[in-house]
Amino acid sequence: MDLSCLEKILEGEPKYRLKQAKEAVFRRLINDWSEASNLSAPLREKLNQTCPLQVRGEIVESASNAETLKAIITLQDGLKIEGVLMRHKNKRNTVCVSSQVGCPLGCRFCATGAMGFRRDLSASEIVDQVLFFARFLQKRGEQKITNVVFMGMGEPFLNYDNVVAAIKILNDKDGLSIGARKISVSTSGVIEGIKKLANEKFQVNLAISLHAPDDDLRSQLMPINRKYPLKEVLRAVDDYIRKTSRQVMFEYILLKGINDSEEDAKKLARLMRRSLYFVNLIAYNVVDGKNMEPSSAQAIKKFKNILEKAGVVVSERYRFGRDIKAACGQLATPSGF
Ligand code: SAH
Ligand code: SF4
Repeated sequence: MDLSCLEKILEGEPKYRLKQAKEAVFRRLINDWSEASNLSAPLREKLNQTCPLQVRGEIVESASNAETLKAIITLQDGLKIEGVLMRHKNKRNTVCVSSQVGCPLGCRFCATGAMGFRRDLSASEIVDQVLFFARFLQKRGEQKITNVVFMGMGEPFLNYDNVVAAIKILNDKDGLSIGARKISVSTSGVIEGIKKLANEKFQVNLAISLHAPDDDLRSQLMPINRKYPLKEVLRAVDDYIRKTSRQVMFEYILLKGINDSEEDAKKLARLMRRSLYFVNLIAYNVVDGKNMEPSSAQAIKKFKNILEKAGVVVSERYRFGRDIKAACGQLATPSGF
């Protein structure tokens, strides 16, 4: 759904026309302009030709977990991306969106990183992932999308402008009307993005992929740490907190024998013992060919205990959709792109 295309076509029309068109797209969730009964037939025809609404997507269902669905979406240029829907029974429906085709940052544990990078997604390609699932749920008579997380393929802050434009459409009361507090952006620590987000007017949630308690290990796992070292990332986060008074989540994947020792937990506790910081421990989702394993349940418990005893706020991430490779860091389209 290319909003700028729509705005251009409706330029000469009265203002309320745009509102009517948006109402059809975002409220009634039409899939084709012919269904926009509040617009004239010639206009519908023109819109279908110039700003088509269809999203080419294929749903992959999970055998073991009916709460998670993955969509493989084919873009206009034939490239493929993935989005994930997580249904938390009668509570919320969260869509995990991709922000890029692939990712240039090559984190050692991540399937997307192993694919390399093709291109940024436009704002409409990001919004389309949410619209695709919103239409899907509506057809099944299910509830609306309530939350959006930028935790799919790609680094959102390397595509900052399009990500922010997409957030504005998602948040717009004439758009999908998803509250800013229900939208989360996860970054590997791109400092410029953290700084810019601190100055935006909306209040989305910020998450930082930390995954190591010191520069040595973090640079090994996440090469981006050489450009944006830990201390500088945390300084940018502190600035962000000062400006926004919002909580920040630090994601930490527990990797067996790599970053899950008692010593690692103690180091992490020293970094994280700050107000409005909280740690989200993530069980590693195995990626083929990576030679990495998730930490044992016992090691996770011990790690968590050390953090808690040190006064750090900590939670564990519920795992979704591993059998359809829809879990964090498993998103990589099978044929490459
Ligand atoms: N590029 C951004 C957002 C996408 S990754 C970022 O890195 O933050 C979303 C989350 O999934 C990040 O916390 C990322 O570190 C995590 N992740 C990546 N690979 C994973 C894997 N194999 N198992 C579990 N989490 C993974
Ligand atoms: Fe990119 Fe995030 Fe994967 Fe790292 S974890 S390669 S930044 S998508």
